[in-house]
Amino acid sequence: MKTEAVVLRSIRYAEADRILHLYSSQHGRIGAIAKGARRPKSRFGGRLEPFFRLDLMLHEGRGELLTVTQVATVDGYPRLRASGAALTAGARACDAVLRLLDSAEPNPPAYNLLCRYLALLDDPAAPAGASLQTALSFRLKLALAAGFAPELASCARCGEAEHLAGFSGAAGGVVCASCEAGAFPLSAAAHRFMVDAIARPLAEAPPAGEAELRQAERAIGETLEHHAHVQLRSAA
Ligand SMILES: [Zn+2]
Repeated sequence: MKTEAVVLRSIRYAEADRILHLYSSQHGRIGAIAKGARRPKSRFGGRLEPFFRLDLMLHEGRGELLTVTQVATVDGYPRLRASGAALTAGARACDAVLRLLDSAEPNPPAYNLLCRYLALLDDPAAPAGASLQTALSFRLKLALAAGFAPELASCARCGEAEHLAGFSGAAGGVVCASCEAGAFPLSAAAHRFMVDAIARPLAEAPPAGEAELRQAERAIGETLEHHAHVQLRSAA
């Protein structure tokens, strides 16, 4: 089969092979093996590394892994690779996709979001690409694409729209003053950051202070822990 995919993880295997964890546009998560990929004259070249966006031809064998037969680069994001901050942000993003999206079900919004984030990290005209606010905006949009967006419009327990004072991962969103048992305090600024980050394009993630961003990170993290049963690494 033919598909476009991003390399999330690339592991050395046996003498000269690579095992790839791919996130594809048409088939969701794919595990594949590229035989002989680490030989100096491999036809795959150096493309089977994390963050590469590839056009792949894959062959179904007997095992769980597909075999890579042909590869062409769609984008290698070379400037992303030259920046430590962008590399770290890209690695966290790929890790979040690995943990959150593990089915073979295609999810075009999630795939497009990942490609857009990698392009932003590769863009010298977007200096905020590797910032914490953009990393958290990516996480929120990824949670939304995966079906685990936190409830931000009204109390996740009782529906109250006023006096929202906390966030509860178990409830899956903001909670009002009467429902805040088990919640942590969420400032109005952190709440606004999350609402704006979901509403705005990834490249226009709203600025916010460190304390607000950490509250937003905790809110996203606890929502995914309770509802998707995944634990994300620290965003920065
Ligand atoms: Zn309530």
